[in-house]
Amino acid sequence: MARIVVLGGSFGGLTSAFELKRMLGNNAEVTLLSGMDTFVFVPSLPWVSMGWKKPEDITLRLKDILERKGITFIHEAAEGVDAAASKVLTKTQEIPYDYLVIATGPDLVFSAVPGLGPKGHTECIFELDMALKTREAWHRFLEDPGPITVGSVQGVSCFGPPYEYAFEIDTELRRRKMRHKVPITFVTSEPYIGHFGIGGLKNSRRVLDDEFANRDIKVIANQAVEEFTPGQMKLKDGTTLTHKLSMFAPPMAGVKAVFHLGNPKGFIPVDSHYRHKDYKNILCVGVAMAIAPPEQTPIPTGVPKTGYMTVEMAKDAAKTIVSDITGKPVSEPEPLGVMCLVDMGDSAVFAKAKPLLPPRQEAVWKKGIVYKWGKHAFEKYFLWKMKNGLSQLP
Ligand SMILES: Cc1cc2nc3c(=O)[nH]c(=O)nc-3n(C[C@H](O)[C@H](O)[C@H](O)COP(=O)(O)OP(=O)(O)OC[C@H]3O[C@@H](n4cnc5c(N)ncnc54)[C@H](O)[C@@H]3O)c2cc1C
Repeated sequence: MARIVVLGGSFGGLTSAFELKRMLGNNAEVTLLSGMDTFVFVPSLPWVSMGWKKPEDITLRLKDILERKGITFIHEAAEGVDAAASKVLTKTQEIPYDYLVIATGPDLVFSAVPGLGPKGHTECIFELDMALKTREAWHRFLEDPGPITVGSVQGVSCFGPPYEYAFEIDTELRRRKMRHKVPITFVTSEPYIGHFGIGGLKNSRRVLDDEFANRDIKVIANQAVEEFTPGQMKLKDGTTLTHKLSMFAPPMAGVKAVFHLGNPKGFIPVDSHYRHKDYKNILCVGVAMAIAPPEQTPIPTGVPKTGYMTVEMAKDAAKTIVSDITGKPVSEPEPLGVMCLVDMGDSAVFAKAKPLLPPRQEAVWKKGIVYKWGKHAFEKYFLWKMKNGLSQLP
């Protein structure tokens, strides 16, 4: 019986584990390790930070959903991987594997800019505990409003959430008839608004420029940040901005346990079947995987790896392992594309790019209230799908 170990209990890890068990049944022993005992629907964290959703609305207990499908759950983070000996190392045990799927997502690199992050002088909405802290900061802010700065520092790859957050605070402040008390400035390392680390998407640059203008949000693009200090940020060009609340996306790197298997940032390069270049029994999906940027931007930026992409990668990686075990050939995976619902507070955008990087066969950027409802519905659908282990569904 093949021993398959999956690292990570999120989009990539859960999808891989469910798919492998579904396709291999009793021919494989699937074990999933995660340092967290819950699956968090990360795309809804901006809503948690606004107080629009509660943690219990967007989390599932990993043990319950995995063991129901015959997958062993170990609530422990990997501390290392001995790739030559095919073993995962944790604090308490060594776990041998025939195949390893790495879906450990990122470490958030707050040290990239002095003062960045929840232990410094800015909020972050990338993890549940941080989103809850941002929610507290938001409630304090509403008692004593003032300027807000939002955006992405140099080296960021996940650009969407700061856009969502900027539009959400704008929407909520208008609802509360407080918008006139709050100057909002959006600062980004992208060369232009709507670039997203993927060279833009259709007319995203023009429509987002208009969106910010219509909402009276000041934009500073193509900028790096020198430092954050209490109530202030300094840009590399010497500009100083003050704030009562500041939320900035951090750069990402591979997690420590698998860093040695990756590129200088710890992201793991793979072949078209998601296999590690040197260790063919190690596969990697999602944010942990390396994707080269489409172009060099004046201020460094990275390529985002979204939930949709991660699920597609995980399905293809599972097929690769199944083919290896059963000897049945596997077709070449489709080039990665992206589909995303970007919240705008009072509406949302449906964005699609196929392939992810230009030139593209297909690109869509459509705004409408229907996509906001779609975003709520998709969250519920995805949680239902994971709760029932129905990873084969779209
Ligand atoms: C705020 C925010 C909003 C987003 N919105 C969208 C959106 O609207 N649409 C969209 O498509 N994408 C969105 N994304 C991107 C999406 O969330 C990611 O693509 C997705 O979470 C990646 O999944 P993953 O499995 O690769 O990694 P992650 O979700 O980062 O999960 C990593 C998992 O690995 C575990 N882990 C870490 N280290 C170890 C270790 N050493 N051993 C074992 N386990 C470990 C973690 O506990 C976690 O379970 C958003 C991201 C953020 C941050």
